[in-house]
Amino acid sequence: MSAAEALTRRLVDLADHGRRPRCGDPGGHELWCSDDATERAQAAALCTGCEVLTECAAAAEFSAVFVWGGRDRTPPPARPKPTKQVAA
Ligand code: SF4
Repeated sequence: MSAAEALTRRLVDLADHGRRPRCGDPGGHELWCSDDATERAQAAALCTGCEVLTECAAAAEFSAVFVWGGRDRTPPPARPKPTKQVAA
């Protein structure tokens, strides 16, 4: 079973018991895919104690976007290239 399948199985199990991870909460899930790094840091902190954190983190190794498994995996913004100084 792949990591993604294991995560899916755990999420379905949670749903069968009427529960969901915090990233699935209506009105709050935007933090996990926010463009704002501070909000993503909040989301990563909110992952603490998640019932599927282990499976989520394992599945996240194959994803490099947003917050998964308690960690912001968004690539850092590209640094601007230095401009050449032109002698006057
Ligand atoms: S550990 Fe994964 S499933 Fe749990 S709240 Fe964080 S992103 Fe959502």
